[in-house]
Amino acid sequence: MISSIPTERKVVFLTIDDGWEQDPGFVRQVRDQRIPITAFAMRDAVEARGTPDESGGPARYVGAGKWGYFRQLRDAGVPVENHTLTHPNLRLLAYPAQRRELCGASKLIERETGTRPTLFRPPFGNYNTDTLRAARSCGLSAVLLWTATVQPGGKIAYQVPDKKLRPGDILLLHFRPNLARDFRILVNKIKRRGFELGDLQAYLAAAQAH
Ligand SMILES: [Zn+2]
Repeated sequence: MISSIPTERKVVFLTIDDGWEQDPGFVRQVRDQRIPITAFAMRDAVEARGTPDESGGPARYVGAGKWGYFRQLRDAGVPVENHTLTHPNLRLLAYPAQRRELCGASKLIERETGTRPTLFRPPFGNYNTDTLRAARSCGLSAVLLWTATVQPGGKIAYQVPDKKLRPGDILLLHFRPNLARDFRILVNKIKRRGFELGDLQAYLAAAQAH
């Protein structure tokens, strides 16, 4: 279970969840500026099934084009990781149901993008020991939480009282309307504060090698 990356360097990590909204400008931005991000795809969002998660903001399914969008992100160098099939509160599910959510999503993402996820992000940050066991059994090597969320307009909502970025912070965004614009504001803000954007997978691999 990981909620921040141990490092002394002024580096933070950007992660983007769900997939209800698929802003094409965002893919171009990530590709052209080579910004390292990690996407946590959730089936019902990507495939526009059911009701959008409120935490992602008011979703309109703009461009919800299923997995093609995530294949474009993959082609831009973005790892597509696991965020369940249906976005349940995993603490309310027994082990077999949790395992279906995690393994099912990994299998689907592998089929759609060609690469099996290695990271898992639990919906709402809710998990228990069964979740960790299911993650291991589905081939997921880490359960990734976050240190701050990014609101519409690129505003950072900190979980710490001094409202400062810290080395190794993991920021959580959602695929929502105007992501490209909000993302530009956020990236500028991070750079003004003297932080770089880190490659999460590279840092995790280095941490595991120690
Ligand atoms: Zn989510």
